[in-house]
Amino acid sequence: MSARSTNSGFCALCGQRATKTKMMAHIEACDTAHDEIGQPQPLIVLRFAAVGQPRYWLIIEAKADAPLRQVDKLLRQLWLECCGHMSAFRVGRSELAMTTATSIAFAGAASKVDYEYDFGSTTALTGELVGKRQGSIGRASVRLLARNEPILWPCDECEAPATTVCPYCIDSGDGRFCDAHADAHEHADEEVYLPVVNSPRMGVCGYTG
Ligand SMILES: [Zn+2]
Ligand SMILES: [Zn+2]
Ligand SMILES: [Zn+2]
Ligand SMILES: [Zn+2]
Repeated sequence: MSARSTNSGFCALCGQRATKTKMMAHIEACDTAHDEIGQPQPLIVLRFAAVGQPRYWLIIEAKADAPLRQVDKLLRQLWLECCGHMSAFRVGRSELAMTTATSIAFAGAASKVDYEYDFGSTTALTGELVGKRQGSIGRASVRLLARNEPILWPCDECEAPATTVCPYCIDSGDGRFCDAHADAHEHADEEVYLPVVNSPRMGVCGYTG
């Protein structure tokens, strides 16, 4: 069952809501207003979206010389980390070393980089370069700029907001339930339920947000 949702998200710096397409215009004004005092340095702005689930998206900013490992860390923290699975950035078929500078990784002609977390029950993302600027973001080498708003999934049985996911049934596109229908569902006794969370990894492995 599909979710009732728009493509809107919110700015992580000021809370402003905007659609996915209008968010970049907002970010361009907002990020400089949230810079720290300090020497400006080259920064790049990246947008990540979940493969096959484009309503899940993030816009992040990285110091140009920050290694991909730092981007990996932020993606795990926001969206992915369940039990320390392997992950990789790739351009075409070549895997990029986690020590690669982010600006080098995203400097290719198409500026698109594939990312996978967990090579078993994989969550796949695509990242693209959407901006460059000079600024000062303080000590952290990457920061979140904006992300999609939580998606309101209706219960498969009654249209109330779903709170629970059955991982046995999620692959078929179903398996999201309100509390009452989760209790009534055929897998209720198997203690496998996972919470509805704002992540493309919802319902996968042990991901609880
Ligand atoms: Zn803002
Ligand atoms: Zn896991
Ligand atoms: Zn229900
Ligand atoms: Zn089930």
